[in-house]
Amino acid sequence: MPDSFQIKDKDLMGRIGVIETKSGRLETPVFLPVIDPVEQVGDKAILPANEIEKMGFKAIITNAYLIKKTYGESAVERGVKGIIGFSGIVMTDSGAYQHMVYGSVDVGNREIVEFQERLGSDIAVILDIPTKESSSYSEALYSVEETLRRAREVIDIVSRSETLWVLPIQGGAYLDLVRRSAREAREFDGYSIYAIGSPVTFLQSYRYSKIIDMIITAKEELLPSYPVHLFGAGHPMILPFAIALGIDMFDSASYMLYAKDNRYITEYGTERVEELEVFPCSCPVCSKYSPKDLLEMDRRERVGLIARHNLYMIDKEVRRVKTYIREGRLWDLLIERSRSHPSLLDAMNRIVMSSDKIEKYSPYSKGRRGLFIYDSTSKYKPQMIRTMERLSRYLSYVVEKRIPGMKTVAMIPGDGSIKPFSSSPIYARALGDLSRESLLEEVFVFFYTPYFGAIPEDLEETYPFSQHEAPESVEPSLIRDLGEEIYRLVTRIRGSVPRIIIYYSKEIPWSVEVASILRQTMISPRDWGIVLREI
Ligand SMILES: [Zn+2]
Repeated sequence: MPDSFQIKDKDLMGRIGVIETKSGRLETPVFLPVIDPVEQVGDKAILPANEIEKMGFKAIITNAYLIKKTYGESAVERGVKGIIGFSGIVMTDSGAYQHMVYGSVDVGNREIVEFQERLGSDIAVILDIPTKESSSYSEALYSVEETLRRAREVIDIVSRSETLWVLPIQGGAYLDLVRRSAREAREFDGYSIYAIGSPVTFLQSYRYSKIIDMIITAKEELLPSYPVHLFGAGHPMILPFAIALGIDMFDSASYMLYAKDNRYITEYGTERVEELEVFPCSCPVCSKYSPKDLLEMDRRERVGLIARHNLYMIDKEVRRVKTYIREGRLWDLLIERSRSHPSLLDAMNRIVMSSDKIEKYSPYSKGRRGLFIYDSTSKYKPQMIRTMERLSRYLSYVVEKRIPGMKTVAMIPGDGSIKPFSSSPIYARALGDLSRESLLEEVFVFFYTPYFGAIPEDLEETYPFSQHEAPESVEPSLIRDLGEEIYRLVTRIRGSVPRIIIYYSKEIPWSVEVASILRQTMISPRDWGIVLREI
């Protein structure tokens, strides 16, 4: 069904949206816990689906292939929701994962697609052929072509269905195949959701940068108006990165698999319960029990409680990412998270390298709190890239059209704690100084700052020059860059204006350093009509 997805808010390539299913609306980004249709069913189940529903999860995913094998045709009568005991939105997978693990499944594509329809799935997946991490190029190519063939094979069912059908993109680590898979998938009518095929093995081995590459490649080809699911992503560590690149849905069994192994999920990794003195969390489980309490329980009860905590952690991270999207600060969250694990730093580097692509999709100015700048990595923020492009175009115009005819160019340090810059005492003093020697109409003023370089005075109130927060302590590399940038600007304009005054002030320590860099760089400033003046 086309038009089943509406985008409500955006930041970077991430979005908050709503998927319309036949059982109701689902807000994205959303995490779907994997429910084992055999183990997690009934009174004796460790953490049954109805308990997960009570925790607030609106949707889950379960496996239609296992349901068919276990319950046979009787499953159709009870329906998937009856079998697993969940009244919310249910997505089913087709057995592709079992195919990947066991090498084959004894069910056909058309057969399992029809079965999922009759089972009453809200969202369902065709029987795709996942590309494995270990696949050779020709195996990966086969998985791409065979998945597309199967997508075509059931197009008659899919296109008249009320179920939302998912078309997985294959190719794995072979990005040319990922691109081809996505490009051809885009041409199919009838599918409502795309999925990035099983990178589970990448996720298990923390090869996040591989996944980032796959997502970026697929998203470049897919239409942005369709939701994209990422199979097997169930750790809070990867969620902000995947969401920032435009992933809308996730599923994973990790909450349970980790719990069975006494592993406790945090934002930054996993901890063994045995190694914890206290739980660094205040979810209902962690506020009630200590690690010692859990270790003294019988295994079933313990696994259930750790699994619950793990789900709370994943849910909390999804909520956090949504908040950052609404505030337009998703980049800041990525930077923060990228410092928590080397593999996330790799992932961040990939994103930084692709920031020009991301920039195209990002809203320019949003959020009540303006642009947050932390350090030199903030230069790669999409809003910064766009700001610097616009600024550089405007600077060329200023250099060619505005400065010729002026008597003086003044460069005044922009005090980051006072905005607009022209309301600072340094500006007032500089203007007083200038008015003693020239008519102010014949003075062109730039503000200079470590994060934006030289800003013509008439731009100071445009976004984000007056709407940003930056630290007062500035990295030495940024100060050096600023010194060089001012030097370059001075060499561009010195032929067209008789006098250039560069002000600096002890109240803004980095401006003193910039002045000293300029003094070292310029051989004889006086000859150029350049004055460095403390104010
Ligand atoms: Zn907890």
